[in-house]
Amino acid sequence: MTRQRVLVVGGGMAGVSLGCELAREHDVVLIEAERSLAVHSTGRSAALFLAGYGPAVVRELTQRSEAEFVRLSMLPGVPAPLTPRGGLFTAWDESSAAALAALVAARPTMTTLSADQARVLCPMLRADGMIACAFDADARDIDVSALHSYYAGVLRQRGGQIATGARLVGADRIKSQWQARTSDGRRWVADVVVNAAGAWGDEVAELCAGAGYGLSPRRRTVVIARSPRPIPADWPVVADAAESWYFKPEGGALLLSPCDETEVPPGDVKPDPLDVASVLERVNAVTRLGLRSVRTSWAGLRTFAPDRAPVVGPHPNEPALFSFVGQGGYGIQMAPALAQVGAELFRTGSLTDAVLAAAIDPRRTQTALEH
Ligand SMILES: Cc1cc2nc3c(=O)[nH]c(=O)nc-3n(C[C@H](O)[C@H](O)[C@H](O)COP(=O)(O)OP(=O)(O)OC[C@H]3O[C@@H](n4cnc5c(N)ncnc54)[C@H](O)[C@@H]3O)c2cc1C
Repeated sequence: MTRQRVLVVGGGMAGVSLGCELAREHDVVLIEAERSLAVHSTGRSAALFLAGYGPAVVRELTQRSEAEFVRLSMLPGVPAPLTPRGGLFTAWDESSAAALAALVAARPTMTTLSADQARVLCPMLRADGMIACAFDADARDIDVSALHSYYAGVLRQRGGQIATGARLVGADRIKSQWQARTSDGRRWVADVVVNAAGAWGDEVAELCAGAGYGLSPRRRTVVIARSPRPIPADWPVVADAAESWYFKPEGGALLLSPCDETEVPPGDVKPDPLDVASVLERVNAVTRLGLRSVRTSWAGLRTFAPDRAPVVGPHPNEPALFSFVGQGGYGIQMAPALAQVGAELFRTGSLTDAVLAAAIDPRRTQTALEH
């Protein structure tokens, strides 16, 4: 393939991982609106690797990523991006029992446990009320910062450039090339623009191609709560299978989320005090932790296409705009495989796996919007 000038918009996990892959063969410039990289969704995640989480295409990409995580952990000077955690998925009513059954069906390696066995793993779980539970030994923590720094570093080593404080504000297609403008007054010429703008993915698509993908940015809250009792660092992540709360140890305290999904415009979101209060209440209802005090909290955006699968490939209206958006709540755990798939699509225009290609094809979002 001829060497191309590629302008990647967005310096979160999506932009640096695909930018790194493309920099093998192309001249890559990555522009990021903020003064530093990874300040939005990527810097606000719960840093979990859950192979049974999300729709089938996400689970497939997460499983494919595992081998790459292992390869990275063996490179000299690269901190291991995955560490063991374990995941305890619990059910307390009929709807969470149904969700748990679906989870176990999608991930047969999970082990069904009794409530007593669950309390060996997390002794503060209440003895009464839990009706079913399963353990995923493969749930892990991700060192998000190490993974992001690895991709940004290799992107630079391969000759790519990264410009921060540079928000894309205009892009014209003139004589088969892009003439782009950023908020710092700089101008950029490129053959292809990559849209890796996360929650702003529709804005960038509208700017470059006159139409977005119908993305939905959804706020999710994370709370770090002080515990009246010491929290052992080796507790698993404990979750309600129907996704109404989860918690895991975090630096001697407890990281919790109410699994909120409030649709909001793209921006620097803050937690709603009601969401913060509700997760303390929900976790206190199923444990003997007696949480009352919050050390800190934050919120970030998980941005979904209508079917919750990523959107990867040329924009339907503008082939020179390559879409790499819709990573939802899984953009860290599936980043290694998704970047490789994105690079293959960029290079050849197709994938050997036709099912995967159809699941992530941007044209499906346009069809959905027309209906
Ligand atoms: C609370 C929470 C918990 C999560 N937990 C997990 C988890 O446990 N595991 C997991 O795998 N995933 C998790 N996620 C999801 C994961 O964080 C995201 O899928 C991933 O970070 C998305 O990366 P991104 O690069 O697409 O977006 P971002 O990190 O938001 O990056 C997009 C970047 O584009 C920039 N940008 C936007 N517009 C422009 C423009 N016009 N010009 C230049 N730059 C622009 C923005 O400034 C931003 O930095 C979680 C998310 C949240 C919010």
